[in-house]
Amino acid sequence: MPISTSGNNFDIILVSAEWWDDHPLSPVGVIARVLDAKGFSVGIIEKPETPEDFQKLGAPGLFFGVTAGSIDSMMNNYTPMKHRRENDPHARKQNIMPDRATIVYCNALRRHFKGCTIVIGGIEASLRRFTHYDYWDNDVRRSILLDSRADVLVYGNGEMQIIELARRARDGKELAGVPGTCIVSKDVPAGFEMLPGHALAAADKSKFCEMQNMFSISKNLAQEYDRNHVLQYSYPKYTAKFLDWVYSLDYSRFMHPDSLLRMAQFSVQTHRGCIGTCSFCSLGLHQGNRIISRSQESILAEIGKIVKHSEFRGVIDDLGGPSANMYGMDCGICGGDCLSCEKLDRSHKPIIELMRKARKVRGVRKVFVRSGVRYDLAIESPVYIEELSKFHISGCLKVAPEHFSPRVLGLMGKPGERLEEFVQLFGKLNTGTGQSLRYYLMIGHPGEDRASLDELVKKAEGLGNIENFQLFTPTPMTVSTCMYWTGLDPRTMEPVKVVYDYRTKKRMKEKMLDILDDSETTQHKDY
Ligand code: SF4
Repeated sequence: MPISTSGNNFDIILVSAEWWDDHPLSPVGVIARVLDAKGFSVGIIEKPETPEDFQKLGAPGLFFGVTAGSIDSMMNNYTPMKHRRENDPHARKQNIMPDRATIVYCNALRRHFKGCTIVIGGIEASLRRFTHYDYWDNDVRRSILLDSRADVLVYGNGEMQIIELARRARDGKELAGVPGTCIVSKDVPAGFEMLPGHALAAADKSKFCEMQNMFSISKNLAQEYDRNHVLQYSYPKYTAKFLDWVYSLDYSRFMHPDSLLRMAQFSVQTHRGCIGTCSFCSLGLHQGNRIISRSQESILAEIGKIVKHSEFRGVIDDLGGPSANMYGMDCGICGGDCLSCEKLDRSHKPIIELMRKARKVRGVRKVFVRSGVRYDLAIESPVYIEELSKFHISGCLKVAPEHFSPRVLGLMGKPGERLEEFVQLFGKLNTGTGQSLRYYLMIGHPGEDRASLDELVKKAEGLGNIENFQLFTPTPMTVSTCMYWTGLDPRTMEPVKVVYDYRTKKRMKEKMLDILDDSETTQHKDY
């Protein structure tokens, strides 16, 4: 039975706060395809609102899969200044969904399908799997697994986990113990590391920091709640071979008219994971801080399929991943900090070779690289910068230095010392080409004070090519959010200055708006 939004007698019904796109970049699209490929019938309920919406496909034979999708519903619905996006003329319009969509959908399913099994997944569930600070409540919340009353939580990318859960459910086996999932349990099996309990972490900021430092996807972790524990089973080993299979599936790439992925219809993901250590990003606790690159053959085969698509016009929208130029930087020998490790292959040979072959695929006129480029890595390969500038960007390369104050950059976990060197090299390699650099910046990050903000503003005014800036938003489970809530850097337990005051943030924002206006940017302003 094909994947469908109508009918009944499905094994698994996926309930999503985002439109279903049959596309490898759509979380619900990928989960539906891998289950279908493993012989399970899949029904999809998109953006349900009424009781009828939740009941239209009947009860699943095995379980409901619930997701808010590729973004946390609170991030989706509110600007960094906590304005509801639909009421904010400046805000980037998103597909509005219920606040805390995962919880709302689970409670609705519990009302209409007593005793059904519910599996939750996606960014919202994944990064709220333990005790976390919630910016919108301005308070600490407990694991979403408890608030949603779901049976299993899948964290990170969930293809391997959902297949295993479906098999176990089909075979009547218990769902506890699947790597890459969390459950609620009265007991803690052997081999689990105990995080500080919820009550303690919520009451004591040094304990909150201790919890933050213990978060990892490669460990079995347990956290105590009143009469229960949330157990995390360590993440399964995703391989290039498995990713090649996931991306080889028969996605139609037809998009919902209101899909946010429309601009990425012909984008190709080359790898997963990121070896960056940015404090404000939680990709490492979602996808992992190791690179898993697809094979060149698999990527070129996908492009070969795209060329035959009826809506394809010769342009690959993006060839990339979390950081485009980390493709091929797979290592995984140890758990160390790859960016400062001499063993890391910084040659960029794999990505250069891939780019050259991708643009030679028959029917391809242009291959864009729109994913972020890590300049502190790219600087190691002038050939990569040259190829990128000559064939894969149009008019400008966007990089994200985020800030210019060494102290703030240190707290952000971002490099800064080689930016000038990169600018010089890019300039030299692009003499007479008209290609330029444009910058993404972040304001309001913990540790930023008046002086460092003035430093950023002065530098940004001098550069005059700011692409965009964002006001720091504390999202669940990041190191920066821990700093924001506790006023401490969890890595050193040193105090960190944090701006909480709304008026100050507003002033900061207005300063940057003026600079943006002078930078002639066309982007929406997200504040
Ligand atoms: S050896 Fe170096 S590059 Fe490899 S995983 Fe360890 S830290 Fe990363």
